[in-house]
Amino acid sequence: MKNSNKLLLILSSTFISLSFVTSIVDAKEARYPEFGNGRIPQVLAKANEYMVSSANPYATEAGLRIIEKGGSAIDAAITVQMVLNLVEPESSGIGGGAFSLYWDKANKILSSYDGREKAPMLADGKLFQENGKNMNWWEALAGGRAVGVPGVVAMLEKVHKAHGKLPWADLFEDAISLAEDGFEISPKLGASILNKTNPALGRYEDTWEYFFPNGEPIAAGTIQTNPEFAMTLKRIAFLGAKGFYKGEIAMDIVEAVKQAEDNPGLLSLADMANYEAIERAPVCADYKAYKICGMGPPTSGGMTVIQILKLLEDKNLAQYEPLSVESIHLFSQAAKLAYADRGKYMADADFVNVPVEGLIDGDYLKERAKLIVNNDMGDAKAGAPPNADTNWKDAKSPEQPSTTHFSIIDKEGNGFSMTSSIEMAFGSTVMVRGFLLNNQLTDFSFSEEKDGEKVANRVQPGKRPRSSMSPFMVFDKDDNLMMVIGSPGGSRIINYVAKTMLGVLEWNLDIQEAISLPHFVNRNGSTDLEQNTYAAGLKEALEAKGHKVSVRDLNSGLHGIIRTKDGLEGGADPRRVGSALGK
Ligand code: GLU
Repeated sequence: MKNSNKLLLILSSTFISLSFVTSIVDAKEARYPEFGNGRIPQVLAKANEYMVSSANPYATEAGLRIIEKGGSAIDAAITVQMVLNLVEPESSGIGGGAFSLYWDKANKILSSYDGREKAPMLADGKLFQENGKNMNWWEALAGGRAVGVPGVVAMLEKVHKAHGKLPWADLFEDAISLAEDGFEISPKLGASILNKTNPALGRYEDTWEYFFPNGEPIAAGTIQTNPEFAMTLKRIAFLGAKGFYKGEIAMDIVEAVKQAEDNPGLLSLADMANYEAIERAPVCADYKAYKICGMGPPTSGGMTVIQILKLLEDKNLAQYEPLSVESIHLFSQAAKLAYADRGKYMADADFVNVPVEGLIDGDYLKERAKLIVNNDMGDAKAGAPPNADTNWKDAKSPEQPSTTHFSIIDKEGNGFSMTSSIEMAFGSTVMVRGFLLNNQLTDFSFSEEKDGEKVANRVQPGKRPRSSMSPFMVFDKDDNLMMVIGSPGGSRIINYVAKTMLGVLEWNLDIQEAISLPHFVNRNGSTDLEQNTYAAGLKEALEAKGHKVSVRDLNSGLHGIIRTKDGLEGGADPRRVGSALGK
């Protein structure tokens, strides 16, 4: 497709303003351009040496400063995460968990790290049941019950020990100063507080006092400080991860979980002290001339994104426009097949047998791709991948959209891709020492059994709930890093990431175009089309093919970087308020 046509297609297909801002970083006033109808204008960022793309300009800028000082991708990432915790507290932070990929360019080694929350040792399959019935999701999430042992701090420390260049304590300075001196509340955070995106927000006293000072929601544009969080960060900066998992902070976390009114949890000091982030083997597959790599269990993200792409590998998607009935039909059918396998087989592989190799096996997926025909396939059934225990029962866990993703490439060409989450917006709504605790355990299946068979993703003591988070990297044949990408979006993450990768790899879009491209999503149910975009106009044509179509808001937060022959290019999701910048 000709470039000019591509651009026209994307611009005419969305409702974004054409009056692009040229620099988001310099002008304070332009820090958050018009938020209005849910999209802000974003232009492709270009750089020669290094780049950061994250969900908030404060975090992007702080990350760049660290790289400028000689920091590596993980050094920048620690700063980015701490700043995000402060300025985007509704989405991620030290009270939550994360998955990440680190590309060590000099040694050409890709590592992946699991900082997922763990269930307390006292929890079991009945955690989300009351009087023999599954709890209401909204009642389960608030308070202590759904709080898993947070994994972010342990994971960052582990990656820093392996790949950090600057001292650990230095990486907290930016977030500490911002917490003490004040930062501007973003339109996203302001709107999330005002609209109580999480209905339980404000139920607990500390949270109420922070987000509703004098009884009023803090508005976008307000300068806010968080001195308690600054103290917390100083402690972790000084003592390392043990300052979080042991001692005062751990005691306060456990206390808050146990004391949470109406809905206490089971977290103990031993659960905190015993938490470990785990380095795991990344999950990789060849896709045409590329190698695509993601994170393995306990997230379903890596395997499911790979399945979608492999199921489409022989369909010559490039012959169709990205926003055409043909592309959306093919994509949705591949997604249906992949989500069917996800529902049945994917969970924490330390507890259940997940046939990782079988699920991404080329021959298995070639056979399965034959199920994609001209009309919608209806409900896809899980397949029988090599070495799978096919007795597992599928069960849903209703992940909700909050979370954040950032991508980094440093001066040496090392890359970092991290998706970080406290699960629901504002997590459990329990705030301790200036940060929010997650409700990630609601990502488990609430049912322990179905039709007399165990559910793979049931709660078990010490287990990590299945995730959809999909930090990804793409390499060329010679193992050169080509792309760093990921997104929030609950279980839709997988669709967002797969579609953006296809945008670049198949439709030859630049990374900003691929991110901005209106969404089409299928999770083995309806085909969801992003409202107010050109995609929504394809509803009837898809219905004629048998699709059940739902036109709706599809709120991703894709932040990515690609390497082209001319240097680095970055994109930030127009559906959020972040930025991609580099030098
Ligand atoms: N809790 C979800 C997961 O781990 C992510 C939620 C989100 O993206 O909003 O997959």
